[in-house]
Amino acid sequence: MTRDVATLAARLSQLVQVATVTPPDGEALTPETEEVFSRFRALLLQLYPRLFSTAEVTPVGRAGLLLRLAGTGAGAGATALGPVLLMAHQDVVPAPSEGWEASGWTHPPFAGAVEDGEAGLTVYGRGTLDDKGALLVLLEAVEDLLVEGWRPHHDLYLELGGDEESDGPSAVAAIAELQRRGVEPVLVVDEGGAVTTGIIPGLTRQVAVVGVAEKGVVNLELIVSADPRKPAHSSTPPRRSPTAALGRAMAALERHPHPALLDDIAVRMFAELAPFLPGPLRLLLARADRLRPLLARAFPYVGAELAAMVRTTTAATMLRGSSAPNVLAATATAVVNMRVATSSTVADAVRHVEKVVRRAVGSSLTVEVRVLEGHEPTPVSPFDDRWDAVTTAVSAAYPDALTVPYTMLGASDARHAARIAQAVYRFSPLFMSAAQRASVHGVDERVTADSLARGVRFHRALLTGTI
Ligand SMILES: [Zn+2]
Repeated sequence: MTRDVATLAARLSQLVQVATVTPPDGEALTPETEEVFSRFRALLLQLYPRLFSTAEVTPVGRAGLLLRLAGTGAGAGATALGPVLLMAHQDVVPAPSEGWEASGWTHPPFAGAVEDGEAGLTVYGRGTLDDKGALLVLLEAVEDLLVEGWRPHHDLYLELGGDEESDGPSAVAAIAELQRRGVEPVLVVDEGGAVTTGIIPGLTRQVAVVGVAEKGVVNLELIVSADPRKPAHSSTPPRRSPTAALGRAMAALERHPHPALLDDIAVRMFAELAPFLPGPLRLLLARADRLRPLLARAFPYVGAELAAMVRTTTAATMLRGSSAPNVLAATATAVVNMRVATSSTVADAVRHVEKVVRRAVGSSLTVEVRVLEGHEPTPVSPFDDRWDAVTTAVSAAYPDALTVPYTMLGASDARHAARIAQAVYRFSPLFMSAAQRASVHGVDERVTADSLARGVRFHRALLTGTI
């Protein structure tokens, strides 16, 4: 009873029209936000009556929902691996509700416009890819299966985050709740990679990239201060000022990046893509394993994404110094945002920055390196029968696509799930062209109805094949 593509598009349009803009970090929901999220919940109940009447529903965090479909237990099927957790989030990043044309949108971001264009029937609007499209295809698949009389052998959990875009406290609460119940999912799938084309020049095949790990994140504050006993005036500046020293420190961080290393995930990805690449690139990447040092050195010169793939990155973000044109800063500060490679640790990353910064600042000024926050890279998910189940489901939905692993460069809700599960795969079963990938958190976010239908197929295959 799978719905036709026009119906899927119309239903996603309805989800987009409820503007569940992510609530600000750490604050209680305002009555307005509360109202929007409860309207969204009511819409989910209306669209997926069988799911919400069958599942045990637990509110988690500020706006999250944790659903449990009890497994039948007895006589678990030959394919059943164990309890499964599937995640998607209800909230979206902001988009202009007025002046949207000036910012480049073709349709109002929260109108859920459906248009029959070049790529086929397409739904426009904030959240169509991130993550309401993925939420829709997940819920559609489960609803359909339930209506057909299907029941999971093991417990199936669905976590519908309410604030992923503001650091995911509802996902944290959901994972804590599962931990409290002693639930250890054998398999977790959340957003991350997608089905796409053109990730490597000359590669014409569709590729499903599935995140098997996430880099860690560290925010460091660099504080460079002058000797407080020697106040200086901008009309008689000292030879060394905190502001210039901070500048030198940041330049030094660019000159001395973290060591580059091609990890096993990247090697596996290139080895699997190599046969489908044109001539020289095929020969080179097929030997990725043996050419690790060479590729790791070369990638940073090819592009920012490849550079980020092979090392811990550092980006200077918030700078602060003097407050007036004629005032010398006694203290200059910068925040350095680092994404920690899976082969490294937060401590390594901090040590490297400290060494480089201290040398650049010199001894006439004091420098303090303060860790504002940090979390380690996640472990790498296994390439066992769980990985096979994901690739099989991809093939069911996208028969022409190659499935390859990759390391997520950003952070997602899935990293919290890594606390209770070994096998966490980050993948939205939606096709995203390069332009569509750029529309995530950007302008003209859109998804095709065909890709929604395939997304439903992915989840059906995944569920019937694993649980
Ligand atoms: Zn998202």
